[in-house]
Amino acid sequence: MVANLKLVPVVYTVEQQILVDKFNALPFKSKTGDFWKNTHKGEYADVKEAIKEHYLKSQNYTCPYCKQYIVVGHLGVWDAEHIIAKDENPQFMFEPKNLCVSCKDCNGSKSNKEVLVKPSRTRRKFPEDPDDYKFCHPHFHDYAEHIRIIEVAGFYMPLTEKGIALIEICGLLRFVLKCGGYNMVDNSVGNVVVQLGNKLMEAQTPAEQVYLMTLIGSVVEKGLESAALAGLDAMMA
Ligand SMILES: [Zn+2]
Repeated sequence: MVANLKLVPVVYTVEQQILVDKFNALPFKSKTGDFWKNTHKGEYADVKEAIKEHYLKSQNYTCPYCKQYIVVGHLGVWDAEHIIAKDENPQFMFEPKNLCVSCKDCNGSKSNKEVLVKPSRTRRKFPEDPDDYKFCHPHFHDYAEHIRIIEVAGFYMPLTEKGIALIEICGLLRFVLKCGGYNMVDNSVGNVVVQLGNKLMEAQTPAEQVYLMTLIGSVVEKGLESAALAGLDAMMA
């Protein structure tokens, strides 16, 4: 049984909560994604830093998407991350369950990509049902139920549709490419895994997904030869 590592939402101090309430009380149209980055950067700097410090500790210096463990003193290597993008839904800018910290690569890939099953720019209530989300959510889902990490190959094996969506949204196939370059994995194996991973993203049926996942597991664990026996040649044609 994998320990439940869901995040602990940030609790604001009295002073921080006053600023958060001030933002929340703004007219809907005055709330914008660049609020704490540009227009009110100085005023909200402490709130932003408190958010980063809280989640870094709560997450044990681990990115909630790629699970890399990065311990450095400089907060700048981490991004305060809005799980529902703040440019799309600025109304959830300070919602504790919409916040975490992530590594810059995951945040860069995720950018403003849609994570809601039913996107709405005018939604008032923060979506709290795990099934409101397309991917596995750092606060609402148990990562290990959705993705298995095969560390030696730098590969993220999706176990569910939400796992596939997370790999796609955060660009987690990049680790296979990087490992190939460092010879941690035979290059040909890395390339095949990337190609199979791409096919997995396009798979139309659950059966196709299961078949591709089996092939990927076989390639990663036993090499290309045994995978060929499982029908790899036909698949790559
Ligand atoms: Zn990451």
